[in-house]
Amino acid sequence: MGLKVAKFGGSSVADGFQLAKMRDIIQSDPDRRYIIVSASGKRFPGDNKITDLLYLCLSQIRNNISYDQVFQVISDRFNAIKIKLGLNIDLDSLFDEIHDNINNGASEDYVVSRGEFITANIVSAYLGYDFVDTQNLIKFDRRGRVMMEETNKLLAEELKKHDRAVIPGFYGSDAQTGNVKVFSRGGSDVTGALVARAVGADIYENWTDVSGFLMADPRIVKDPEPIHNISYMELRELSYMGASVLHEDAVYPVMLAGIPINIKNTNKPEDPGTIITSEHDPADKRVITGIAGNKDFTVVAIYKNGLNREKGFVRRLLSITEDNDISFEHIPTGIDTVSIVISNDEIDGKLDDFIEDIENQLKPNWVKVSHDISLIATVGAGMSRRAGVSARLFSALAAEDINIRMIDQGSSEMNIIIGVENADFEKAVRAIYEAFEEISPTKTEA
Ligand code: ASP
Repeated sequence: MGLKVAKFGGSSVADGFQLAKMRDIIQSDPDRRYIIVSASGKRFPGDNKITDLLYLCLSQIRNNISYDQVFQVISDRFNAIKIKLGLNIDLDSLFDEIHDNINNGASEDYVVSRGEFITANIVSAYLGYDFVDTQNLIKFDRRGRVMMEETNKLLAEELKKHDRAVIPGFYGSDAQTGNVKVFSRGGSDVTGALVARAVGADIYENWTDVSGFLMADPRIVKDPEPIHNISYMELRELSYMGASVLHEDAVYPVMLAGIPINIKNTNKPEDPGTIITSEHDPADKRVITGIAGNKDFTVVAIYKNGLNREKGFVRRLLSITEDNDISFEHIPTGIDTVSIVISNDEIDGKLDDFIEDIENQLKPNWVKVSHDISLIATVGAGMSRRAGVSARLFSALAAEDINIRMIDQGSSEMNIIIGVENADFEKAVRAIYEAFEEISPTKTEA
């Protein structure tokens, strides 16, 4: 017998119909003992997530507009679930309590956390599992960071007392004040990871509405292959470049404890999904694991004769970046050049001062700014064992007449990042995918 922690995202608990699927999944495996839930999400395109409605209540409160109507929409949705599932739960007292607390000046984090609170109460009644609140179990420090060890101890001690439990995602509390504190959006994934570590789960299942990660964005590549296995480090590279299924902070707690994460699809529970593990399996023959990218970066290229012999140049460049309050993504370097890659949003309104400071303080021969650059990361732990990976990638781009504006290979030898013009982004992703698809083990073995 193993122990599974299962987190169900907003779409898996969106309405009575989805909740019934969730219950079938849980009941089909008695190892699924600790269940974490998000707040009910969208039931159809264009619908609202409960959390978004709660944020809407907040903005009405801030603007002194009555939030009653929005609150009514929220309570109606939960009541519809209660009726559909025939539950015997007193939701009205929960709504009254929340209403009173809001009227008595409850904090913003309290308000937006109530979606998970009510959803977890409903799921607990539906499954007949204990409800375990996280307010006093997940602790944040003054700077808003989770206090990992203290949280781990509190969760472990409490959950030991419950054979099976339903736990609301997304919030804990400030260690100093005890007031509710929420994670950033999508944070129920992190709650699930903290619980998995605390109870020593054999696996952390993350149930969502997709069957795991695909090798590339399906809006760009037609029917990309699914990724069955991926290491935490590869995932980190892909997520950073925009492949988002899981909150990025969800990896750390389970990585510490060596617990694999399995991304699964509530609507297709038979699909294997993606398993995320701490180590890349050396028997895995794939050269690349996935391709992800993002548009809208600015590259500031700085050229100075003899730069390689000048001490402290990069340090001074980084101080200028810091003084201008700019965070950057990459700094590819050459002998006499340094480029600095910054997202357009980040540099917006700061570029002119930044260039002026570079010119005054570093006295370069020239500074060139390229706007509207896309970055594409080709990621794969298998790359380091194969020769000719970059040759294949660059030939594929050359064959499509795509001009590469920047190249950066991480020292982990696990990724190659290239910069291309925004207009070439989709074409470049497709060209790279097709180049590696030809040598994918699933194709060559077929
Ligand atoms: N309900 C929160 C959100 O919509 C947290 C979560 O779903 O993980 O961001």
